[in-house]
Amino acid sequence: MAEPFLSIQHVRKSFGATTVVQDFNLDVEPGEFVSFLGPSGCGKTTVLRMVAGFEEPSAGKIVVAGKDITRLKPNQRNVGMVFQAYALFPNLTVAQNIGFGLKVAGMPKADADRRVAEMLDIIKLPQMGDRYPYQLSGGQQQRIALARAIAPKPKLLLLDEPLSALDAKVRVSLREEIRSIQKKLGITTIFVTHDQEEALSISDRIAVMYGGRAEQVGTPFEIYNRPATKFVANFVGTLNVLEGKVTDAASGKVQVNAQEVSLKGKLNGSKSGDTLSLALRPEAISLARQPGHDTSLSGEIAEVHFLGSVIRVRVGIGGNTVSLDTFNNSATPPPAVGEKADISFSSGDMLVLH
Ligand code: ATP
Repeated sequence: MAEPFLSIQHVRKSFGATTVVQDFNLDVEPGEFVSFLGPSGCGKTTVLRMVAGFEEPSAGKIVVAGKDITRLKPNQRNVGMVFQAYALFPNLTVAQNIGFGLKVAGMPKADADRRVAEMLDIIKLPQMGDRYPYQLSGGQQQRIALARAIAPKPKLLLLDEPLSALDAKVRVSLREEIRSIQKKLGITTIFVTHDQEEALSISDRIAVMYGGRAEQVGTPFEIYNRPATKFVANFVGTLNVLEGKVTDAASGKVQVNAQEVSLKGKLNGSKSGDTLSLALRPEAISLARQPGHDTSLSGEIAEVHFLGSVIRVRVGIGGNTVSLDTFNNSATPPPAVGEKADISFSSGDMLVLH
């Protein structure tokens, strides 16, 4: 890794006797887009607020561009922030909102006006400068909040669930816009979300958080395909879990529903006779046997959900139900509930959850 731009080192935060962030560590590269992903209450916002300077860490330090900023006030940190609620000043026009930080910093009016116009172009709302926030949609208001945050050219952009108050379509288009603006400006960004699809789609890396800790930090590809813990595997993406019993630890043989599969190299210290939780993503499983798949299990179609381009099928296998997706093919009707069905997969795609 290059020299980190932001380094969060052994940070802890307690409110009274309750510790909500513990030993949190993260290095963020210059220009990187990192998401904090986790369930409600896991400490995402608290870490972000400590980086912004709204909360003081109980222990640890925060370094930006080689400088310890742990005890600096928010306005000394050169950080831009966007919150979930739009938080625009209702009595100021859009242009005045965007120019607010520039005015506070004492930028000459002509320069500030130029910067505001530039920002309105970047967020693709060039004609909106004279409007008031109440005359804008939620998505437009959030773009103005983003423009206001980046107008003073902060070194760090902190986004706290900026999309969660918006409806689904606007969320998707605005997240793509945020990412493209962030890339264009090259601004180091932290984005807090509890939405895994959002985090997977826009991040360079994701810190998956649980109980005040970073469970795993990695690229979306790593987090999805190689989850380090049971929590990460379950929280990110749809997961099918099957029980397996180790029949021969030395050769990696595991029995799954009367089938023997080889999980050599993945048993991580499990002994013969141990029970394991084995996980498979829906896209690793096919209905009927596919070339290259070394394992097949027999079951019965339990549910069929027609989603348009794909059909999500749930197949009962022993006591478990397994989800898989088949592509819609207009020439072939979807399977029917109650039909017998075989599923197949490559045992190499199985994750052993520890
Ligand atoms: P959400 O997605 O719901 O916003 P989060 O992951 O951002 O959750 P935080 O807002 O960081 O979680 O809160 C973490 C924990 O710290 C929660 O249990 C919360 O109640 C607690 N907490 C946050 N701020 C304070 C405070 N000022 N005083 C006491 N407890 C607090």
